[in-house]
Amino acid sequence: MDWRSFLNFPVEKRATVAAIAAAVVVLGAIGVLVGSRSSATSASDGAAQSPKGSLTVDLPPAANDKIYGAASARGRPIVVIDAGHGGRDPGALGVSGEVAEKDLTLSLARDLRDRLVERGRVRVAMTRDGDAYLTLDDRAAVAERLDAAMFVSLHMDSAPNPLARGASVYSLSDVASDAEAAHLAAEQNDGAGQSQGNGSVDSILSELAMRSQMSASADLASRLVKKAAGRFELRPEPHRFAAFHVLRRAEAPAVLFEAGYLSNADDELLLRDPKHRSDIALALAQAIEADVAAHARR
Ligand SMILES: [Zn+2]
Repeated sequence: MDWRSFLNFPVEKRATVAAIAAAVVVLGAIGVLVGSRSSATSASDGAAQSPKGSLTVDLPPAANDKIYGAASARGRPIVVIDAGHGGRDPGALGVSGEVAEKDLTLSLARDLRDRLVERGRVRVAMTRDGDAYLTLDDRAAVAERLDAAMFVSLHMDSAPNPLARGASVYSLSDVASDAEAAHLAAEQNDGAGQSQGNGSVDSILSELAMRSQMSASADLASRLVKKAAGRFELRPEPHRFAAFHVLRRAEAPAVLFEAGYLSNADDELLLRDPKHRSDIALALAQAIEADVAAHARR
């Protein structure tokens, strides 16, 4: 997760600058056309004014409620896989400059979907299955609409220290495990609303729901760490906590998995390797299935 780009401001600013530049070019071209026409006909033509309408950069959210599943998985819990970033938000860039987080998270999300569908124990939905820009609320809303049993957001890290590497998993908490986790959540949330309790029965109930969501999320995160151990590199203390808006809003056990560091040359090579991504997807699939089975037994 590149939290600098997650702020969107530079990206948006760049998009605005590009839009203005494009508008100037278009208006200039129209001016040339109008100029040549009026010199040819000596008639002012109102219809040749610049076209009305805005230069819109964002398309409506590509809400994706498609459910994938083997026939044998009919009625099974739905796991929402969220490929981080997308569209005008590339996420972190590889140290080689050749890859963007948004493309690798999508590849990993598709691997995980295919693996889960093939194993047939759960059904799967994806917040995006293409290069689409989605807000955090768009992503969480997919899980809400489908009444998902679980929400797994996939990301890749980036850090100023080029030696930092390894995977980690964040679960929802109202207290961050460390300063870095708090910073990451704050930057990712980017002003998204936080619900505040007011002591009413409703807010106490939603507080209780959130406590149970947080403890279920922590269970899922520790299963992920357990399944990953020894199979691919993890950061020291790989299970971290923070108040991620997207995880809270998913209203289901929710974790954010960071598959490794794109700012580290070795991690980048691994994350670009389909075999390595497939190993990660298998570990994630096994942890997800173990978690679903544990909930079914309760
Ligand atoms: Zn990310």
